[in-house]
Amino acid sequence: MPFDALPPSADSTVGERIATGCSPVLVMIDCRNGTHALADADAPQLRVNDLAATRGDGVFEAMLASDGVLRKPEAHLRRFAASATAAELVAPAAQVWLEAIATALRAHRACAETLVKLVLSRGPEGGDACSAWVYASDCSGHYDIARHQGIDALLLERGYDSMLGARAPWLLLGAKTLSYAINMAALRHARSRGADDVVFVSADGRILEGPTSSVIVARGSDEDVVLLTPPPDCGILPGTTQAALFEAARHRGWRTEQTMLTPEDLYAADGVWLASSIRLLAPVNRLDGRALARSPALDKALFALLDIAPA
Ligand code: PLP
Repeated sequence: MPFDALPPSADSTVGERIATGCSPVLVMIDCRNGTHALADADAPQLRVNDLAATRGDGVFEAMLASDGVLRKPEAHLRRFAASATAAELVAPAAQVWLEAIATALRAHRACAETLVKLVLSRGPEGGDACSAWVYASDCSGHYDIARHQGIDALLLERGYDSMLGARAPWLLLGAKTLSYAINMAALRHARSRGADDVVFVSADGRILEGPTSSVIVARGSDEDVVLLTPPPDCGILPGTTQAALFEAARHRGWRTEQTMLTPEDLYAADGVWLASSIRLLAPVNRLDGRALARSPALDKALFALLDIAPA
């Protein structure tokens, strides 16, 4: 059923028909009037000339609902609005997204973990309205091994220096755009070399981020811990998980710093993690084949700060 033909009500019978248990749920937003409606997640919804498909021209957010409760929705909506502004997209108001998300989560029923994706594209080529949707899918258990056993990562060149983001805002390095082909290629490259993930390094030898994660470093132990991460103006996406973790760490009495890091800093650290909204935290066991320090006590403390269930 095309989007235009759907009833605008959140209680659409389409939702009743398609949403069973934890099957994916799609909510399409009409950017012209700010309404939303459940749509068939298995049926075509976009035109083939939508700029999301033809140019990756749009922005998105990915957030986690644990037992049906969204984690840090305000932070995601704030970053989503900032990404849209950077890309000069006129986004529906936060309230429109919140209502569409609520509809999606109601229809999705309570899975242990639900990935909620918000997408805003520039819409069909030559048109004057954005395309926008919310997609909720089950991700329960997807990251259990990474969270609790850890991952191996490769250091890969990102090809630009750590000052580029500040001097070239048109590159949208701090926005969560739909153009993730390079990030996905880097992950495939790592997997073809037997690793699980990637830490990008700038041309001037600084740690940047993972293709879908922020890099977190810990120095110290017990109550004397400092958490470090690269600064947001070095051409990376400001991570909402990193921000939530650092805020909780400061409440716990730990210090936090946003500072330039090198690979040597990671080898010398007491712990290194990749952080992102869906995986939450994954400790890094090996970097480029070299073992990193792992501390079960630090893992436990960081997991508690993010309210992650134990293994
Ligand atoms: N950096 C990049 C490139 C990402 O794609 C992501 C998340 O997908 C992150 C960092 C971490 O951001 P967040 O913690 O808000 O999910």
